[in-house]
Amino acid sequence: MNEPTPTSSTYRCGYAAIIGKPNVGKSTLMNSLLKQKISIVTKKAQTTRHKILGILSTDAYQAIFLDTPGIIEPRYALHEAMMDFAASAIDDADLMLFMVDVTAGAQDADPVEREALDRLTAKGKPVYLVLNKIDRVPKATLLPLIDRYAKAYPFREIFPVSALTREGTDALLSAVAADLPEHPALYPADIVSEHNERFFVGEIIREKIFITCKEEIPYSTTVEVVEFAEREMQGGGPSRGRPSAPKWFISADIYVERPSQKGILIGKGGLMLKEIGRLARADIERFLDHRIYLELHVKVREHWREDKGWLQSRGYRR
Ligand code: GDP
Ligand code: MG
Repeated sequence: MNEPTPTSSTYRCGYAAIIGKPNVGKSTLMNSLLKQKISIVTKKAQTTRHKILGILSTDAYQAIFLDTPGIIEPRYALHEAMMDFAASAIDDADLMLFMVDVTAGAQDADPVEREALDRLTAKGKPVYLVLNKIDRVPKATLLPLIDRYAKAYPFREIFPVSALTREGTDALLSAVAADLPEHPALYPADIVSEHNERFFVGEIIREKIFITCKEEIPYSTTVEVVEFAEREMQGGGPSRGRPSAPKWFISADIYVERPSQKGILIGKGGLMLKEIGRLARADIERFLDHRIYLELHVKVREHWREDKGWLQSRGYRR
């Protein structure tokens, strides 16, 4: 029998930020690493500083994975607070997993990804390249890809993995664990996630407002998820004779600053709001990996942007 080896002096604990474009497999990797599916909120987030996606605790280390959805969407001028958060997530991370999808071929990092990479390198923090979805390409295609990325950026190490089949994920995890700073655990071992799915759901809705609405409206808008519950929905779409899994019911309030903005956001015959809901629902279902029923209400809260207390209550300011 082996003696239990870990002692408090060798315990490692730190933050690993996972960066990557949508669909590269970040959530799948997370579920693989944590060996369980993180579903609904387990604990209300106490802080907006870190968007904690998952916490993996072992006898030897605690790896705290952070997601930074804001920095990978360079399409829009992002809300200041989000950029703030993204920057702080990068700054606070001890290392970064930069994830790409090998089925998409080699791609240059976009400017925002590049900035994230540079921030970490400037601080001398390790950046791992995670080449995901290797189950979908012939092994021979990987070498030139690895070569190209290795030339483009001083990655600490490159890990070809399949988040889906878990090929290569143990090696990745060992490397990450060994690179975490020596530090006692920051979270109790039984807490798997502190990530606040409501936050992400709200951000997705807000993103759709950015896509569908003109200039000033998105900036005058904030979203509050007021209900997020598992609920049996009646008449929630055709089930085609199959028993369907219950949908989650999500209700969100969209706040604007002026009554005139409310009209614009709802649109003629409610078409604008409908479109926002349609786009948001698709993304939220993908994010949660669960079917949802989404209800949106537009409300006016004058000068909410100046209302510090209210902003704080929504986690907008640190
Ligand atoms: P995210 O947007 O980066 O979080 O990506 P997801 O984890 O949601 O994955 C996006 C899609 O890629 C899903 O359909 C996954 O099943 C799929 N996917 C993720 N990892 C792998 C992988 O290693 N191999 C294959 N074949 N598909 C994967
Ligand atoms: Mg995801």
